[in-house]
Amino acid sequence: MPKTEIKKVVCLKCGKTTEVKLSTSINAAEDLNMRRELLSGRLFSFKCSACGYTGKLFYPVLYNDPKNKFMVYLIPDVDRFQIADKDIEKDFDGGVDNVRKRIVPDFNSFLEKIYIFECGLDDMAVEITKLAISNAVAKKFDLEKVEDGYLSMYDRESNTMGFTFFVGEDREPYIQSVRLEIYGKSMKITEEFAAKDRKLKGFLKIDREWSENILYRYKQSKNNN
Ligand SMILES: [Zn+2]
Repeated sequence: MPKTEIKKVVCLKCGKTTEVKLSTSINAAEDLNMRRELLSGRLFSFKCSACGYTGKLFYPVLYNDPKNKFMVYLIPDVDRFQIADKDIEKDFDGGVDNVRKRIVPDFNSFLEKIYIFECGLDDMAVEITKLAISNAVAKKFDLEKVEDGYLSMYDRESNTMGFTFFVGEDREPYIQSVRLEIYGKSMKITEEFAAKDRKLKGFLKIDREWSENILYRYKQSKNNN
């Protein structure tokens, strides 16, 4: 059963208080309906019972996929790198060793993590690949950097993965596909430079900032040789 909480929410439009039921923990294998609601974003729809105003209401949700062995914890605007939560781990049937645990600060990153893990990919290597490709895309468009992008395609048969980036001030979507060799190379970089992070306990934030750090250390080591 999904875990729920009743919360009082003040309507942005009329100021009246509405009680809403929030689903705070979802099991991908058991709560199929909830999973659909979550991935479509409908789970975060808020409707005021007084005036009918509808809007989005993001709140912390823990997503647990025991079959693919990962957990993603959406905590809006979280800025910590690591969160240890013994209570959550205690709840997880079958133990949490070999379970990848991540925290993400926003809904798009949340969807991306789920996609990456469902594809059977390693999110550390995907982040490194994305950073390298985003630098190439920035160069192509003559921009200082292109920061916002997501893994949007993975096809082992054609040996490619694709990233959608949001480019420039207008945030035009631009899709860049790459051969999986680059992902393989990124994997090797993480094995060498992120070995310590792989052993860390708790929920980790594996994002652009993290991959900038790893890639920096990789480049330093290349310069020193
Ligand atoms: Zn209202």
